[in-house]
Amino acid sequence: MLNIVLFGAPGTGKGTQSGLVIEKYKLIHISTGDLLRDAIKNGTPLGKLAKFYIDNGQLVPDSIILKEVYHKAMTHNSAPGFVFDGFPRTIAQASTLDKMLEKKNVPINMVFYLEVDEEELYKRIMHRARMSGRTDDNEDTVRKRIKVYNEQTFPLLNYYKQQGKCIQIDGMHDIDAVFGQIQKHIDSYLELI
Ligand code: AMP
Repeated sequence: MLNIVLFGAPGTGKGTQSGLVIEKYKLIHISTGDLLRDAIKNGTPLGKLAKFYIDNGQLVPDSIILKEVYHKAMTHNSAPGFVFDGFPRTIAQASTLDKMLEKKNVPINMVFYLEVDEEELYKRIMHRARMSGRTDDNEDTVRKRIKVYNEQTFPLLNYYKQQGKCIQIDGMHDIDAVFGQIQKHIDSYLELI
């Protein structure tokens, strides 16, 4: 089993790179952002709750996120592995995920940290706002999301570094070049196991 975490600030290209990774390595994509947007689109109770946090640029509470991830992972019980995209976003989420996977004896194998300059992040998100119509892609919310990222998610870098799993990826290049770096690391890892 191959379990990969992709993490980085909003706008670093996690969604795009996850799509390429799952296609090439036939893994299951778990994007908590997509799960929440689907719930909003379907008008479920989860969607109604999540919309409040998302539109305010805040994180949805850990307990809710963890329940959704557990549920999604369970529906793919015999998956060859997962790509976690936008999850975990807090230390509490990361340590619960570790415990969940420990029980199944299938740890996180690799963590890719996508690094992009803050100025470039704003440019990319504002461009995405025009294309995707995401309600949280506006200047006010983006500033909050980046602040929340720096305070609550960035500490994951050390968390995973301490586990010796963190691979830093220069996300300033184009999509193919970034994927090239990720692919190289996954292929070398697969050769070793
Ligand atoms: P994303 O598409 O990953 O940028 O997520 C969009 C929004 O969904 C975030 O700004 C959060 O409000 C919420 N969200 C997504 N994933 C998580 C998570 N793992 N923990 C808490 N909130 C999340």
